[in-house]
Amino acid sequence: MTITEPTTTATDLDAARADLRARLLGDGVLIDLGSPGLYGRSGVFERVYQAVDAAAVRSQADLDADVLRFPPVEPLASFERTDYIASFPDLAAAISAFTGDDRTHRALLAARERGERWESFLEPADLMLTPAVCHPLYGLLTGTLPAGGRTFDIVGDSFRREPSLDPMRLQAFHMHEFVHVGTAASARAHRDGRIARLRETLESFGLEIDVVPANDPFFGRVGQMLARNQVEQALKFEFVTPVYGPDHEPTAISSANLHEDHFGTSFGIRTADGDVAHSACLAFGLERITIALFARHGSDPVSWPANVRAALAL
Ligand code: ATP
Ligand code: ZN
Repeated sequence: MTITEPTTTATDLDAARADLRARLLGDGVLIDLGSPGLYGRSGVFERVYQAVDAAAVRSQADLDADVLRFPPVEPLASFERTDYIASFPDLAAAISAFTGDDRTHRALLAARERGERWESFLEPADLMLTPAVCHPLYGLLTGTLPAGGRTFDIVGDSFRREPSLDPMRLQAFHMHEFVHVGTAASARAHRDGRIARLRETLESFGLEIDVVPANDPFFGRVGQMLARNQVEQALKFEFVTPVYGPDHEPTAISSANLHEDHFGTSFGIRTADGDVAHSACLAFGLERITIALFARHGSDPVSWPANVRAALAL
C-alpha cells in the first residue's frame, strides 16, 4: 500500500474495479465463490498464473536460493514471535476446531437448527492462517547463520482478512518470496540489488511499472506512525502498475522489503560474527501479477502480444 491519495473519487475507482471483476467473472477467468476476495480459478487463469510463477523463478535463478515450502497454517507460537497481531490485528485470522463432547455437539446442532451461528462452539486450535509466506522460516533459523547468510525461495498461501470487491485484493492469495537472512549489509544488498531485475521481469510482461516507497497497512493510531517511519526510512518498495488506468492510484503487484533486525531479534538469529541477523524479502504477488496481465492484455492469452507471450513462455 502507498500513502499517496487517489486523484479521483472513490466512486470512479469502485466502478473501475467492478468492471474488471465483472469481466474476469464473465469471461470465465475467475469463479465467484460467494465471499468477497475468494475466487476459484479456471484453466486459463491457472495457465497464466503458472507461467508468471515460472518466469519469476527464472528471473531469480542466479540467487541459487534454498527451496522451502510450508503449509497454509502456522503454529500460534511462531506466529506470536512475528508480532503480526500487534501491527495487523485486522488482517489476522485464527483456526478454530470442535473439541467438545456429545452434549456440546447437540447444543451446536440445536443452535444450527434454529438458524443461529454455531462457530462459538469451536475452540482456538493454536493455529493461525499464514499472512506472509516467509513467517514460518525464521523459527527454523534460530541460532547462528553461516558466513554470507542464507537465501531462500518460498512460495505458498497467504491469508489476510481484507474482504473486497476489488479483484486485485484477495483474502487468500499466493506470494513467491526470495528471502535473505544475513548481515545488515547483505540484507540491504539483497533488497536493493534485485530491484532492477524484478522491475525488468514485470516490464517484460508488457506492464507499465513504477517502483515507489511504500508502507504496510499498520493498524490504528500507533500504526500510522509506524507506517510513516517505514516510508521515511525507505524500508519498503512496491512495484506498482496502473491496473485501473492513469487516473487512479496504481496497484502493488510485488514488493521489496527490508525488515532490519525485526525477525533476527524475535527469533534469536545471529550472523557468523555474532551480530543480530537482518532480513529482506522480494515478494512476487502471483495473483496480482496474473490479474494485472488479464486487465492489460485481455481475457484470452492467445491474443496477447508475441513479446509478452515469449517472456512468459506461454
Ligand atoms: P514481507 O513482510 O514478507 O517482506 P510483506 O508482508 O510486506 O512481505 P506484502 O508487500 O504485504 O508482503 O505483500 C507482497 C505482495 O503480495 C504484494 O506486493 C501484493 O502483490 C501481494 N498481496 C498483498 N496483499 C494482497 C491481497 N490482499 N490480495 C492479493 N495479493 C496481495
Ligand atoms: Zn517475507
